[in-house]
Amino acid sequence: MRPLSALSVEDINGIDKVVFDLDDTLLSNGKLEEDAYSALFRLRVAGFTLIASTGRPASFAEVAVRQWPIQAAIAENGGVAFHCLDGPLTKLDTCPGHTRRERRARLETFTETLRNEFELQLADDNHGRITDVAFDIGEHHRVAPEVVERARNLARVSGFRTFCSNIHMHLTLDAFDKATGFAALMSNLQQDPVRELRRAAFLGDSANDGPAFAAFGLTLGVANVRKHLAKLTVAPRFVSHSTMGRGFSEIAARLVELRA
Ligand SMILES: [Mg+2]
Repeated sequence: MRPLSALSVEDINGIDKVVFDLDDTLLSNGKLEEDAYSALFRLRVAGFTLIASTGRPASFAEVAVRQWPIQAAIAENGGVAFHCLDGPLTKLDTCPGHTRRERRARLETFTETLRNEFELQLADDNHGRITDVAFDIGEHHRVAPEVVERARNLARVSGFRTFCSNIHMHLTLDAFDKATGFAALMSNLQQDPVRELRRAAFLGDSANDGPAFAAFGLTLGVANVRKHLAKLTVAPRFVSHSTMGRGFSEIAARLVELRA
């Protein structure tokens, strides 16, 4: 990873979108602070299209698109999105309704298995979720990494996929991640997803950002990404000096400066 000061005009050539993680990237310990929030306005004024990409529930994404100066939010690690990129607020769930209901029932049954087997606790934001179930492994409860690993193994052999951020373990039957979720949103808008991945900067901090760090044209981490490097097959190309929301603000200021 190179310092933000090494980011050049050539690196941002053609970049017109900023895709960013929420927890511990835009948000600092779950809160949207003043400098990070104003950074969104500065990026928007500079002409970037802003797209949040989070493991948080669909309901969070809908509120963010309705209220913040952003044009889209992809939630549940790529499973579902809300956007106003081509008109009024639209929800994108590529899974047909009957399949979604079938998957929901399987998720709920297997959730009980995981709760009984590993004494895992549900995250406190499950009521707003459409495509996945989230377990709290570090937000309000600590779960030992080896317990998380055993739970993930059981999920895998049972036909489920899992993602971990530093706070949640997600269980899903959907095939998406933060890179393919973005690609699906672009395809739905009749845009070439490969070209759009190259034209977007991705900002993140942890393991569930891994697929995005491997796929986007320009990738940047906030300083706290250093704690999660062992879980990333591809590290972001650039890293901020500050952590979380302050790091986001620092990256935003650099992007705006170079675009000007
Ligand atoms: Mg994060």
